[in-house]
Amino acid sequence: MVTVTTIELASEHTDAAAPSPKGGKRILMASPRGYCAGVDRAVDAVEQALAHYGAPIYVRKEIVHNKYVVETLSKRGAIFVSETDEVPVGARVVFSAHGVSPAVHAEAAERRLDTIDATCPLVTKVHKQAVRFADKDYDIILVGHTGHEEVEGTQGEAPDHIQVVNGPHEVDQVEVRDPSKVVWISQTTLSVDETLETVRLLRERFPEMIDPPGEDICYATQNRQAAVKKIAPRVDLMIVVGSGNSSNSVRLKEVALEAGAGAAHRVDFASEIDPSWFDGVETVGLTSGASVPEILVREVVERLAEFGFDDVEEVRTTTEKISFSLPKNLRADLMAAQGAASAHKRREPAADHTC
Ligand code: SF4
Repeated sequence: MVTVTTIELASEHTDAAAPSPKGGKRILMASPRGYCAGVDRAVDAVEQALAHYGAPIYVRKEIVHNKYVVETLSKRGAIFVSETDEVPVGARVVFSAHGVSPAVHAEAAERRLDTIDATCPLVTKVHKQAVRFADKDYDIILVGHTGHEEVEGTQGEAPDHIQVVNGPHEVDQVEVRDPSKVVWISQTTLSVDETLETVRLLRERFPEMIDPPGEDICYATQNRQAAVKKIAPRVDLMIVVGSGNSSNSVRLKEVALEAGAGAAHRVDFASEIDPSWFDGVETVGLTSGASVPEILVREVVERLAEFGFDDVEEVRTTTEKISFSLPKNLRADLMAAQGAASAHKRREPAADHTC
């Protein structure tokens, strides 16, 4: 039987979890892990839209980068498309948590699509920063991964002002019009440490470069990386649950290795776990990316128990309390339907008790 104990460990605390008092094989499970507020909202938006308007609901790109989530929503009637022009004229479409550029909004308007914008509010915040600095005619350096949907969406806000830098190795290639008018912003799901290094090198080249007004790497990314750093030095092997196109999940594997994990593997599903990984392994670390539902982690725990890892210690470095409300137009439709339902109930004749 799997037993789970939780220990609270402040993220600034320097000691990792102590060795198991029982000895033997165990799992150190990072917390926070899994769904962040932006993913929770985006998935909920598709679910509520399916329930309220009925299938099909079109979704531009993967609503969040997770195979299981996309497969589950597809079975319930969501149709995932790559571009807006694949959505029938006049149909309803949800934009993913990663955000879209103004050009995509314009295309949707041209096709008279009913849009539900599930862009994470923390991505929207970065878009607004880009627009504000472009309006002031700054050169904007967007630290992020070329080709990632979030980066495409942010860059699309001000394509003439933004250039993307993928990491420290690209800093030398940056060219700006006026070194005294440069700002950097970033993708929300990067490695905190690598981004700091990129920014340090950028500042060497452009000492007057200004910082974004708030942190762009979001709370969820930072918290999941901090929790992994805490347990990584104590684990022989780190398993990260998450999809290969999830920036957040891929970064967690890299962070685990940098922080001292003996080895690290990313899996979408428990069935991908390879028994040969456990040769000589006493302690397995476990975490999941911000787009991963907890059911997938539970399945990994059950699979690990088959290899004798049935002592689970959850190491919690912080407790997250952030949540976001549903996109405005969807919320309004749901509330109107609720109001209509209760008005209808009030109009129903009182029960006849005369027998
Ligand atoms: S990872 Fe961060 S920015 Fe991305 S959806 Fe989650 S909370 Fe929003």
